[in-house]
Amino acid sequence: MIELDVAQEKVLQAVQQAAPVTVPLSDAYGLVLAENIVSFEEVPHFANSAVDGFAVRAQDVANIPTTLRVVDEIAAGGIPNVAVGPGETSRIMTGAPMPSGADAVVMVEDSTEGKTPHEVILSASVVVGQAVRPRGDDVRIGDVVFRVGDVLHPAAVGVLASINVPRVLAVPRLRVAVLSTGDELVDDGSPLALGQIRESNRTMLMGLVTQAGCVAVDYGIVRDNEEALEETLRTAAAECNAIVTSGGVSMGAYDVVKALLGRIAQMTWMQIAIKPAKPFAFGMLDAPHGSEAHRQVPIFGLPGNPVSSLVSFELLARPALRKMMGHAPVQRPSLLAVADANFLRKTDGKIHFQRVVAKSHNDGRIHVAPVSQQGSHQLAASALANAVAVLPNGEGVAAGGEVRVLLLSDLVEGA
Ligand code: AMP
Ligand code: MG
Repeated sequence: MIELDVAQEKVLQAVQQAAPVTVPLSDAYGLVLAENIVSFEEVPHFANSAVDGFAVRAQDVANIPTTLRVVDEIAAGGIPNVAVGPGETSRIMTGAPMPSGADAVVMVEDSTEGKTPHEVILSASVVVGQAVRPRGDDVRIGDVVFRVGDVLHPAAVGVLASINVPRVLAVPRLRVAVLSTGDELVDDGSPLALGQIRESNRTMLMGLVTQAGCVAVDYGIVRDNEEALEETLRTAAAECNAIVTSGGVSMGAYDVVKALLGRIAQMTWMQIAIKPAKPFAFGMLDAPHGSEAHRQVPIFGLPGNPVSSLVSFELLARPALRKMMGHAPVQRPSLLAVADANFLRKTDGKIHFQRVVAKSHNDGRIHVAPVSQQGSHQLAASALANAVAVLPNGEGVAAGGEVRVLLLSDLVEGA
């Protein structure tokens, strides 16, 4: 057996960040920037009102209440027709350009109708600049708004749209082939014969690959037959940037993934000192020669037991895919939580990963408890977990102690 960190390092060393490409903004969400973004526009582009209300000269509302003459009405998208002079005001909407002469805005909530439609009574004083968004208040021309390595989170693509950047140089979204192996697998809805099971890993892995920010490409079920598997892997290598397989990597007589990768893909086969997900195969397959330069495609051979597949993906495949997509850090967030139950285990030389529910707690800490079933075939229980507890070799942690967890998804709301 080899240690998990050694296995993770081996895999990470073998893969490289993909070459940047130009991506339309509509496709850029979640990608990592490969260029600095300098703004050629300012946001906002003009001084405008932050509220619906009345554009005034602050000095005119120093003594309140006061009645001002309404000389104009300016909507968002409209333009001021007249300047605001002494004793005057323009009705103004949020985002509408400030009229000249005015230097502040009184909120509509602080107004009442005057005697005629051309009059308003204002009942709040404002300081110069109040409720006005100055030009360039958010972004100025020449600002470096984002840098190489920044992740294009939703707000970031929003900012790019706001400064008229239609495309960016970014590390591309990987196309990741997903397939499962096994003679026992059925996915056509037909009744199960003895020995058959319904295929589930591929569906799960498509989701995990998508969640990692990649495009998942379905290559179906491949039978435990080396020829069929080789054909599918070579097709997938030609069409994708990485391949994730499930099943066929342990010690059995029909473990075709291991056998084939050993022959065609410079395989590193590992027995990793973890539970679940001990067997793992990693290989680099030459993509068929085409118009592109020589290219190698990593293959992540995950074990077939569904929970093992999930854990193996999280620990070994996902970090590598994240690195290829330019992300740093590549691991899931790790934090210390309070054990709400015993996390006892036997010393066996392995790190144990228990699926847990992690809850926010009113003591300000995160609390965790294991899901009811921890078998590597019991996916139903694991599907309710949002984190895994990391139990280093040893006796485990008793209830009330501290346990390290990797966060896989949003926290559940707790007590
Ligand atoms: P293997 O790693 O191929 O030896 O498979 C280990 C266990 O996982 C066996 O019980 C398989 O039937 C099961 N298994 C393998 N592949 C899948 C899959 N795609 N979906 C559900 N179970 C699977
Ligand atoms: Mg199998």
